[in-house]
Amino acid sequence: MNRKEELRHKKVLVVGLAKSGFAAAKLLNKHGAQVIVNDRKDLDDNPEAKELIELGMEVHCGGHPLHLVDNSLDFIVKNPGIPYENVLIEEAVLKGIPVYTEVELASYLTDADIVGITGSNGKTTTTTLVGKMLEGGPKEPVVAGNIGTVLCEVADQTTSNDVIVAELSSFQLLGIEAFHPKVAVLLNLFDAHLDYHGTKAEYGKAKARLFMNQTSEDYCVYNEDDDDVKDLVQHVKSIKVPFSTKKTVENGVYIKEDTVMFRDEPIVGIDEIVLPGEHNLENILAAIAASKLIGASNEQIRNVLKTFSGVKHRLQYVTTHEGVKFFNDSKATNILATQKAVSAFSEPVILLAGGLDRGNEFDELIPSLSGVKTLITFGETAPKLMKTAEQAGINQIKHVDNVEKAVPVAMEYAEAGDVVLLSPACASWDQYPSFEQRGDMFIEAVHKLR
Ligand code: ADP
Repeated sequence: MNRKEELRHKKVLVVGLAKSGFAAAKLLNKHGAQVIVNDRKDLDDNPEAKELIELGMEVHCGGHPLHLVDNSLDFIVKNPGIPYENVLIEEAVLKGIPVYTEVELASYLTDADIVGITGSNGKTTTTTLVGKMLEGGPKEPVVAGNIGTVLCEVADQTTSNDVIVAELSSFQLLGIEAFHPKVAVLLNLFDAHLDYHGTKAEYGKAKARLFMNQTSEDYCVYNEDDDDVKDLVQHVKSIKVPFSTKKTVENGVYIKEDTVMFRDEPIVGIDEIVLPGEHNLENILAAIAASKLIGASNEQIRNVLKTFSGVKHRLQYVTTHEGVKFFNDSKATNILATQKAVSAFSEPVILLAGGLDRGNEFDELIPSLSGVKTLITFGETAPKLMKTAEQAGINQIKHVDNVEKAVPVAMEYAEAGDVVLLSPACASWDQYPSFEQRGDMFIEAVHKLR
């Protein structure tokens, strides 16, 4: 019996819809599993739930009734955002029913090799780069995961002629059991999502699950310059392929006399790379390692790096107005991302920052603020950021209502040759529904300057 046929005999509870639960439920249903769906949102404003009912699934909306978890379930597919403290999940753990995330289900059903990419920052950029570098290569790249297309949406259409390039979060990795990437990439580790994971050690452990099913025929691509990452990959069974922007590394990717090297092979000149920022160089080295291991050609890698100028909302160049360059880094939702963004520029920076207050201070930003001449701040964290800017010795500090208002104010302080950078160091949810909308408001305000 093949894996797809096996699903026909399974009874599965899908908890939490959104994109991933919806895709998982549909996939399970298509393969003949008995699917029960539970979502907290009421049915009235739940179009996904309605669609699943029409497909013949049993759907329970508006709460998490405990009776849904009984011993007849074979497993549960949990939306990655749902905490393990959820009553249904606690009950399932108590009863010994396996709880997976949809990436586990997808990996169970696909015959394609998987490149799995995780880390605190740079996942989307690296995943995008690997996808592009693999185009025209020996296997067809399919980019999926946290980046837009859910893995369960592509699992069925992929074959052994494809390679899935998957962006993976720590939340997804907590719910895997047999997920087995051919190439696993760990970019960096920074204090993030501690509200969910509790401690950095727990968060690191979740990330390191990416390697747990690898064998000596797989590869572990990791950041040699990050001590936490090095600790986490110490005991992996796969072949280690380090990358470093700082030193020569054996069997890995590094820089020698302004050329990026993969093992002993020159790949691309640093001056040929369009994407700005030291942090992006780390992403590029990781992407080169991963794509070379899958068989990408040097020519394709070089072509990508000569043209790829970044993913939207990640240090995205917007325009130049009266000699002032505008960059949108709205995806910088933590301090590390903003540190990296600011240090990508040698020009004087007018920094636009602020947003949701998660309770942390911003002291760690101070050393990176030496190139910042003006801080314009908004949102819940504005008072904290003003204090940080004062401590960093910034003279021009201004508090405004929001990103739209920050743009014309930035222009009042700017001189030709300056950079205006939106890199908030905070999530957007105090004022904007998403970092994308915050970035779009910024771009719109910049274009209004004309
Ligand atoms: P993710 O998908 O992990 O959130 P992105 O590629 O979307 O990563 O980038 C998110 C933010 O982190 C951006 O603001 C970007 O400038 C910053 N960033 C990207 N790569 C790195 C890196 N390697 N180290 C630190 N910060 C980074």
